[in-house]
Amino acid sequence: RRYDVLVVGSANADLTVRVGRRPGPGETVPGSDLVESPGGKGANQAAAAARLGARTTLLARVGDDAYGELLLEAQRAAGTDVGHVRVEAGARTGTAMIVVGPDGDNAIVVSPGANARLSPEDVAAADALIADSAVLSLQGEVPWETTAAAARAARRAGTRVVLNPSPVPPHDLPHDLLTAADPLVVNEHEARLLSGVADGSPADRAHALRRRGARSVVVTLGADGALTLDDEGATTVPGVPAEAVDTTGAGDAFTGALAWRLAQGDRLGEAARLAVRVAAVSVTRPGAQTSYPAAEELG
Ligand code: ATP
Repeated sequence: RRYDVLVVGSANADLTVRVGRRPGPGETVPGSDLVESPGGKGANQAAAAARLGARTTLLARVGDDAYGELLLEAQRAAGTDVGHVRVEAGARTGTAMIVVGPDGDNAIVVSPGANARLSPEDVAAADALIADSAVLSLQGEVPWETTAAAARAARRAGTRVVLNPSPVPPHDLPHDLLTAADPLVVNEHEARLLSGVADGSPADRAHALRRRGARSVVVTLGADGALTLDDEGATTVPGVPAEAVDTTGAGDAFTGALAWRLAQGDRLGEAARLAVRVAAVSVTRPGAQTSYPAAEELG
């Protein structure tokens, strides 16, 4: 197949300001200088895979503004084929307005912009591209009907689907999306929400998610690493110790790396072991895409 990883998903400009104190309603507080950096879960995962050397392409929409250009430039720098990123005249690029509080806690407002226009028709027009890719990587942040259409096309084409359902939809995940996921990649919070298992371990939640239809499951555990569950059983992948300075986009680094290794034919547990190493490097550097390592940088 021509591509290792095809991402159908979002591209956002991350606009970050640090504050000493969070403003209350109607209040104004001073912030640090604005930092504009490339982000969005789809674009992040594509950049992570491409940086590692995966043959990667991204099906996404941006606006014809400076942020769209910023995002395209970042993908080119990572090595992504941007031939399927549509620049839409008159549309705004998606933005995430991130306010980082004194404890490093984030409050985020996402304005979807052009991401909201990524449609099932775009996916239908990309049928051949999906069939020409080993792994299709999907997330939230674009309309769920678009994501579901991509998963169905992948199923028809025999393309493996990596699904990171974040942010979790307000209603349950569409069932045909869940059953296409191989694996479903969730953090602990998402695992709890989607499994319905309130009291229990991450492994209990992973088993519950498989019973609900996911073909395989990966639960990421922050500094503690990840656990995987598939037909071969459960694998615990310990965390790699790292001096964390900024964990923004760590989950996307993990998932992009995982998609690359699965495209290379790794078993799930093996792929997760590499993904944990990649994500550990990403937390030692600021930003999302700007923090992602090349394969040679892995210790
Ligand atoms: P984020 O929202 O920050 O992108 P997430 O909530 O989706 O992340 P996490 O489980 O917090 O997902 O982190 C994803 C992966 O990043 C972990 O599986 C781990 O490999 C790595 N990671 C996260 N935090 C740390 C840390 N402090 N030290 C080392 N590795 C980390």
